[in-house]
Amino acid sequence: MRVLVLTGAGVSAESGIPTFRGKDGYWRNLDPTKLATPEAFARDPQLVWDWYRERRERIRNARPNAAHAAIAKLAQHADEFLLVTQNVDNLHARAGMSAQDMVQIHGDIFVTRCSRCDFRQRDDDQDDRQHRKGAAGFGVRRSRDCGTALKARTCPRTPKCPNCDALMRPSVIWFGEQLPWNELQRVENFLDGGACDVVIVAGTTATFGYIIDWAFRASRDSAELIEVNPEETLLSRFATRLVREPAAIALPRIVDGLIRSR
Ligand SMILES: [Zn+2]
Repeated sequence: MRVLVLTGAGVSAESGIPTFRGKDGYWRNLDPTKLATPEAFARDPQLVWDWYRERRERIRNARPNAAHAAIAKLAQHADEFLLVTQNVDNLHARAGMSAQDMVQIHGDIFVTRCSRCDFRQRDDDQDDRQHRKGAAGFGVRRSRDCGTALKARTCPRTPKCPNCDALMRPSVIWFGEQLPWNELQRVENFLDGGACDVVIVAGTTATFGYIIDWAFRASRDSAELIEVNPEETLLSRFATRLVREPAAIALPRIVDGLIRSR
């Protein structure tokens, strides 16, 4: 069984991570689709960092749900498997997805990278705990990622690159930015590697052309194209099976059915 799974914000929404679109996504009355842009970062990097720090905190406190677990289970049973997720959180990984079976096409919120040079770092658990303790009033601590005293929930400054002193930024793909070349190549290689038997598109409205393109190409030789989304999307009329339910409800059942039918 050769399987491609494409996921979007709907999968993480059920773990309490707000989607960009819709009322829940608003933060301090600001529209996330305008915050997640190079222009917003150039105008007010502190504001954008505050928002990302809150999102990181929310993700740390969230748990993977049944949809994440079902996808990880399917990966174990498939002969060849690729998950392409638009989510920048780590919930797929925490549910057991290995990095080699997964492409985070919109980046990784827990990686901080330089806005100028190649420097990047993963903000590990130790940093997470320091941030949380600082936020909980455990006293002044040094924050490793900005190098300044941390009294409040957020660092007082935006982090600077230790190599070139330019601003550090979250390693996510903002609106209007190019997709990462290496990750694109991994998707292309998988698509070139042969026809899929099953394509699952879950929790995404498929508004980005490349998501639709990949779903089409992977299912071109009459593979089953399963869409899991409570609402109709641009992909719906091409799906061979429509499941109008939240991913955490539908995916465990779909995955068990696929594994049984092998
Ligand atoms: Zn740098």
